[in-house]
Formats: sequence, structure tokens, C-alpha cells
Amino acid sequence: VIRCRAAVAWAPSKPLSVEEVEVVPPKAGEVRIKLVATGICQTDDHLLQGCFPNAEFPVIPGHEGAGIVESVGEGVTSMKPGDKVMPLCIPQCGECSFCRNPDSNYCQKSHIAEPQNLLPDKTSRFSCKGKQIHHFMWISTFAEYTVVPEYAVAKIDAAAPLDKICLFGCGFSTGYGAAINTAKVKPGSTCAIFGLGGVGLSVVMGCKAAGASRIIAVDINNDKFAKAKELGATDCINPRDLRKPVQEVLTEMTGQGVDYSFEAIGQADTMIAALASCNMNTGVCVMIGELDSGSEISIDPTGSEISIDPMLLLTGRTWKGTVLGGWKMRDCIPRLVSSYLEKKFNPDLLITHTLPFAKVNEGFELLRAGK
Ligand code: NAD
Ligand code: ZN
Repeated sequence: VIRCRAAVAWAPSKPLSVEEVEVVPPKAGEVRIKLVATGICQTDDHLLQGCFPNAEFPVIPGHEGAGIVESVGEGVTSMKPGDKVMPLCIPQCGECSFCRNPDSNYCQKSHIAEPQNLLPDKTSRFSCKGKQIHHFMWISTFAEYTVVPEYAVAKIDAAAPLDKICLFGCGFSTGYGAAINTAKVKPGSTCAIFGLGGVGLSVVMGCKAAGASRIIAVDINNDKFAKAKELGATDCINPRDLRKPVQEVLTEMTGQGVDYSFEAIGQADTMIAALASCNMNTGVCVMIGELDSGSEISIDPTGSEISIDPMLLLTGRTWKGTVLGGWKMRDCIPRLVSSYLEKKFNPDLLITHTLPFAKVNEGFELLRAGK
């Protein structure tokens, strides 16, 4: 048993508390990982607010981490102690029909299909003060050690800087893949990205890499625009500075609306605005943001709904969603990390602050403040 620090959420809407926890050894088919770095994604904040579906408290959040294998359970053959790895918030069991479908990345062992608050044998590897603590999406990266099933871990290049590539565990891969895999942005096309957090800025990078000729970045926080431009945005729009709805302005700017729009915020009104901003006939809108009711805390997360005019789709638009940018994570994350090492893209610019583990709550304050 390893005793180490972890950030525990004892109940919704409370700050995290950094505690000493016990992490038991990996069972058969599992891997114990010493985490080196983790990012903070807005999805962790949804969890802390109590808005993440099927979550259970107390829980150790975090799903964007990277580390080194400490020990492996019986039968684990694809990795060994000392290997650099990334725990995956979308596993790849390799056996379910979604894993066997080359066009799908949503393994049926993933959280929405089957809660991942406990490991597959329905027990936890974490305890604190004699209490069982839940896992989050199996991987709980806000801990110094975590235990994960082998098929939810990807072995990555030994040269990878873990404090940089931890973002590949969610934000970067999601946004970049939403453009490349889900929308399949074509060269010369026009794109609009709603929301310029870690996810939206990664969409900008993906659109640029795909050769889009016009990349319009939309956010209510003007401080996001300099970085969006640095990453490839050609225009930046703040809906609060406009006299008309943003979808009308985007349609005027591009003639018939953009070819591809992306929602990376998680609000009903911006989801509708993104849908209406793309060309009524051939436009593709990709939903990435997870819906909660804006700044309100929704007690019943399944109660968040949006309604649309069917005419928006009748004329030919496509509206689709993405999980983790469509990447089959176990296959694709190691390749994305290698491409990073070959300098094919540089998401280092997404890193705004680096904090010691004990300041995890400060990290959330920075996220909520739009920093
Ligand atoms: P973030 O908080 O860093 O960024 C959100 C951005 O949206 C901020 O820049 C904010 O200023 C902007 N914004 C807020 N309201 C706005 C409005 N009305 N109009 C325009 N801009 C507005 O969040 P993030 O970590 O980048 O995550 C974005 C969303 O993606 C979240 O909902 C998160 O849960 C979701 N997400 C989904 C997946 C997936 O697999 N589908 C993966 C990761 C994150
Ligand atoms: Zn995430």
C-alpha cells in the first residue's frame, strides 16, 4: 500500500481538500501509476459542482494526467515499471462493438455507458481516513498515485515531457481531433470556434493544421484573443460588442455561414448560435461543450435540455458531437505524442500557469476567472 497525497472532493460545491490517501496495489490486469503532472479541464469543474452525470462522492477528480508506471498487476504485458504512460479517460477495451468499429472511439466501458466510479471489479483502490474514495472516469489524476485498468492506459515515448503532454489526456486531443476527425475540416474552408479555453484553442490549431482559410474565434473574454491569433485565428469576435446575434454577424461575414462551427463552451444558447452560424445546406456543427445551465448549478444534470427549430437541420446542416476528438485513445495518443516530439504542432502555448499540487484549488479559481 502506498500512502501519498490526493485532492479529495468530499461533497459537491466544496473546495478540494489535499489529504493523505492509501492506494492499494494493482489487481490482475491493472497498472499503478506515479502521476507527474495533470491539467485542469472544465469537466473537472462540472464534477466539483455536482453536474457530472453518474458521479459519486467522495471522489478524486482529474482526467488529464501523465506519469510513470510504478507496478503492474498479474497478466499485464503491454507495459512495465518505469514506462512513461498516460491514463485514458476513454478506455479502449478492444472487444466491444464500438472498439471494433474503425469509425468509433467511444468504448462501451466509457463513463456515460457504464459509470467508472469504481474499477471493473466494483471496488476502489483509494481510501482516506478509513473511508472508500471513488475513482473519476477510472483515472483520478489529482493523486500522486492512481490505479487504472491496463486497457485505459497508453504507453508513450520515453522522451515525452510529462508536464507538457499531460494536456493530450483531454483538452488538446479533444479540440484538435474535433477539427481533424469529427468535422474533417477541408483546406480553404471557413470555421468558427465558440469558446477559447484549452479545448477551443486546440480546435483553432486543428482548423489551421487542416488548412482552413478563415478561422473566426468567438469569446466573451477579450483576453483570449491574442493567443487565438497566435495559434491561427484570422478574426476574433466578442458577442458582447455586437448589436446583432453573433450567428447573424458570422453569416454576413462569410456570405452563407461558415463551413464548420464548433461549440467549446457548454451552454444552450451558444450551442444554438453555433448551429445557426454554419451554412444552412452543407455546414457542419460540432458540439464539444458539456451542457450545464450556464453559471447555475443544475441539481438534476439530466434536466439540462435545449430546444431547436427543426428547420435548422431540414435544409441539410449536420449537427454532431465528439468525445475526445474522435481518437481511439490507446492507439492514437502515443502517435499524437510522437508527432509533438517531431514538432508537428505545439500545444505548449495552451499552458498558462504551472502550480504545485497543494495549490490545486487556486488552479480552479484561475479556470473560473477565465485566466
Ligand atoms: P474553459 O472554461 O477553459 O473555456 C471556456 C471558454 O468559453 C472561456 O474562454 C469563456 O470565456 C468562454 N465563454 C463562456 N461563455 C461564453 C459565451 N456566452 N460566448 C462565448 N464564449 C463564452 O473550458 P474548457 O476546459 O476549454 O472546456 C470547454 C467545454 O468543453 C466544457 O464544457 C468542457 O466540459 C467540455 N469538454 C468536452 C470534452 C469532450 O470530449 N466532448 C472534452 C473536454 C472538455
Ligand atoms: Zn476533459
